[in-house]
Amino acid sequence: MFLIKSFPSVKQLSHLTSLRVRLTVGIAAMSILGLSGVVTGICWQMQSILVVTHKNNTRYIAGRFPSDVEIYSDMVSLEEGTQRAIDNLSNPQTLLWVKGPQGEILAQSEALKMGMRGKNLVSLTDIPLQPELQRINNRYWLLCATKLVVKGVHLGEFYIAQDITKDQTMFLSIMSSLLLVGLIVTILMTAAIAWYIQNALQPLKRMSQTTKDISPETLGKVQIELENAPSEVKELAQTLQTTLTDLSHAWEDQRQLVSNISHELRTPLTVVSGYLQSTLRRGNNLTDIQREALETASSEAERTIQLLQDLLDLARAENGRMYFHLETVVLNELLTEIEGMVDQYPTPVKISLPDQLVKIKGDKNRLKQVFLNLVDNAVKYSHSSEPILLKLSQEKQQANIQVCDRGVGIPLTHQTRIFERFYRVDEARSRNIGGTGLGLSIVKTLVEGMEGTIKVISQPNQGTTFTILFPVS
Ligand code: ADP
Repeated sequence: MFLIKSFPSVKQLSHLTSLRVRLTVGIAAMSILGLSGVVTGICWQMQSILVVTHKNNTRYIAGRFPSDVEIYSDMVSLEEGTQRAIDNLSNPQTLLWVKGPQGEILAQSEALKMGMRGKNLVSLTDIPLQPELQRINNRYWLLCATKLVVKGVHLGEFYIAQDITKDQTMFLSIMSSLLLVGLIVTILMTAAIAWYIQNALQPLKRMSQTTKDISPETLGKVQIELENAPSEVKELAQTLQTTLTDLSHAWEDQRQLVSNISHELRTPLTVVSGYLQSTLRRGNNLTDIQREALETASSEAERTIQLLQDLLDLARAENGRMYFHLETVVLNELLTEIEGMVDQYPTPVKISLPDQLVKIKGDKNRLKQVFLNLVDNAVKYSHSSEPILLKLSQEKQQANIQVCDRGVGIPLTHQTRIFERFYRVDEARSRNIGGTGLGLSIVKTLVEGMEGTIKVISQPNQGTTFTILFPVS
């Protein structure tokens, strides 16, 4: 029970593989890819513009600094000139420092000196030659180092650190807003696509609904009408409509043929059977071999007449030409009558009736045919020692008749098919027993023709129960 509940049903799975889900997922995935491509492109572009501007500024400082030092050192000492050039080019966002060949600091921005900003920057050893963005102590720095050569003398290394935290934070917040907007747009877009696809597939759904209800009886009456459908679907519907009409004609022709052949063969066979039986009755001088041959011929003729009668009944029912003489039937009396009729059967048939009278609207003779057929089957497919039960009850507004046996039973895989024409579970066995494979399909047709339903429950080697329900009158 638990296992069955925890797995999705076939219906749910087929829903997942439906055209609607596939199209929605496919288009949504492509839109998401496209949208994320655009967002990534914009972000990348913004980041490059931002960094390139600052890098250019860094390169400008790196290029200008040696000449500034040269100019200042003409007026004051080299060390003081270097410090002045640093002070001149420094600002709160740009920190500069110069290290001598031994790594000692020769000059640095005021903010570095006071330890106000850029702590640990001067102790960094792996600063690149080209401006590079690095995250240090939760701040974004554009760092670069260059050799300081003044008047042809190598004084040491000149370092530039540009604090671009403000711009970078702004960029990151724009980026996250952009991502959020992208996400919302994606969700809205997916919902809109799903809605649009569902609407676009409506004609196909209507067509499938119409074709689901088609049965051999309704083949010729089906009208597939699709307004506002795309031309491709309309074309498909038209083709289907033509196929259905052709099928309906072929089906009608086949039914007519079966009906005509059954009718034409039954009459001469009845005559043959009559002659055979009267010959058997009156033939006092027949040898044993002749009698046996005539008996076989007579029983085969009887069986074939029964088969033709069954075929005729089915053909009439399918043509809508099976008439029922509906009257109020007291099932208690009918089943008692049937008990009397099957009295001579090798297998005992017991009946169980309720105290109250159960009445339905039905055709007495057809009802007898139904119950006799089911009792016949129960006898055929049971051991003669196991009694057969014919049980009547009334549940709410329904008459319930059950024919139960404890015979060979019917495997589950065959249970849905036994009502089909000529279907037999065990072909060889049924043929030996003498069945035609039409009995249950006639029973079903008759029961349904009188507004009833029939179902079967069976267990191999345990037995079979046929249940028939009729509305009470
Ligand atoms: P048939 O004339 O061969 O009995 P039916 O249409 O009456 O044809 O039944 C179809 C098949 O269903 C039979 O061949 C038989 O295998 C199976 N069947 C019908 N009734 C029973 C039953 N009471 N017990 C077991 N099998 C049954």
